[in-house]
Amino acid sequence: MIGKLRVVNSLTKEKEVFEPLNSPHVGMYVCGPTVYSDVHLGNVRTFTSFDVVYRYLKFLGYKVRYVRNITDVGHLLDNSEEDKISKKAKLENLEPMEVVQKYTNDFHRVMELFNNLDPDIEPTATGHLIEQLQMIDELVEKGYAYESNGSVYFDIEKYNKEYSYGKLSGRKTEDLLSQTRELDGQSDKRNPLDFALWKNASPEHIMRWKTKWGVGFPGWHLECSVMSTKYLGEQFDIHGGGMDLKFPHHECEIAQNAGTHGNDGAKYWLHTNMLTVNGTKMSKSLGNSFLPKELIAGDHEMLDRGYSPMTIRFFMLQSHYASTLDFSNEALNAAQKGYTKLANGLRYVQEVAYPEGTQEAPDEKQISQIKKICENCHHAMNDDFNTALTIGHLFNLLKKFNSLQTGQLQFGQLGKEVFDQMKTTFLGFTQDVLGLRLELDLKGEKLVDVVLTEYKAAKEAKDYEKVDALRAELKQLGIVVKDMKNQIDWAFEE
Ligand code: AMP
Ligand code: ZN
Repeated sequence: MIGKLRVVNSLTKEKEVFEPLNSPHVGMYVCGPTVYSDVHLGNVRTFTSFDVVYRYLKFLGYKVRYVRNITDVGHLLDNSEEDKISKKAKLENLEPMEVVQKYTNDFHRVMELFNNLDPDIEPTATGHLIEQLQMIDELVEKGYAYESNGSVYFDIEKYNKEYSYGKLSGRKTEDLLSQTRELDGQSDKRNPLDFALWKNASPEHIMRWKTKWGVGFPGWHLECSVMSTKYLGEQFDIHGGGMDLKFPHHECEIAQNAGTHGNDGAKYWLHTNMLTVNGTKMSKSLGNSFLPKELIAGDHEMLDRGYSPMTIRFFMLQSHYASTLDFSNEALNAAQKGYTKLANGLRYVQEVAYPEGTQEAPDEKQISQIKKICENCHHAMNDDFNTALTIGHLFNLLKKFNSLQTGQLQFGQLGKEVFDQMKTTFLGFTQDVLGLRLELDLKGEKLVDVVLTEYKAAKEAKDYEKVDALRAELKQLGIVVKDMKNQIDWAFEE
């Protein structure tokens, strides 16, 4: 291992050396989607960021258990009468579970499209009702929760006698209280900041369960405390989500965890920053969200064409996960150029082999430059998963490969060991860590080869009309033919 991984922990606000509680095992929990509508590109950014975290931890040799839940009970906002899944079910005349299944399937397809790995466990809120009721019982027994009119609330005042509500988001109870207006439906609570663990269901509410508290449904924050504890233990390593989940969601999770078993839950809390459009957070409710399918088809007024999933992934990884990222057609255009360059490099590196019998004397300067670039890739990822810097180093490595390809640099000047190191580093970081893949599969490559054979034959027969036609056909598909002295090759159009 080169250097140590350091992560910015939202809980301590410090960049800390990552030391798993039970190395080499690492437990990681990421809040998953609420499955009542299509995931938008902002959601994809957060899940892709954690995909890279997962990939890098595995790359470092940790045995990671990655749990990402599915929220299939609809967000329960304290003042809303109806959860979003029920609302959608009524609107579309579906069973709530049909809504859940439809958008869970959609979510999985989107994750696959962007080459995000599957989590190891994907638990659902509805599948853990019993455990949620057990946690409520425990909190009531310990005096951190109380029943009121068929609902159960977490008691912030009682909690604050031993713990500190707001420590993750840095909010003070007094300030929160002064910002809270007493709204309808809050009157069941002893304190306006108390949040629901269980909510009494109105007669028209569809998703409902009968319990000793009456007919109702669980609070949103509860499921993540329950499922992270169940699958990763009372103390585990990483808890992640978007910045907007810090408060109240993760703050409430910490309160529930501490109230039940005395621990915060996770040791490191990681938060991704928002994908914005013209500086405003991309969100379903603001109506400024982009769906992956719109982006790929170019079917949106802000776009002048479509972009491929790997271009979009590259675009996202060009910024650090904790910085905001602004979405625009220009930024995607630039990402398209960058990704194509990397993809052309990747095609070459995948194929290139060290030639036998090379005799050149080693070039120590080149060797040390290459070793340094390889180390830099590790250092960049070790620095709180800095994918943007890593991409920069990969381009530097690509320059060395280009020199090998053009003959400016001889393989023998590097020697097999250094050549292998640069190849392994390039492939490992591009494919395994960043999760970037070629968008033409083996079949596609073979088809291009078939067209190139035709092209070659047409050229030999001096049938220039056909040569031009084949060239134009390939160009339409984003592939350019490269006529070289002794051979004909192709590349993705940059
Ligand atoms: P939701 O399904 O709304 O709970 O969101 C799923 C995940 O996407 C959460 O971790 C959110 O914090 C995250 N998220 C929502 N909007 C954005 C955005 N514009 N940029 C980045 N992440 C987002
Ligand atoms: Zn959660």
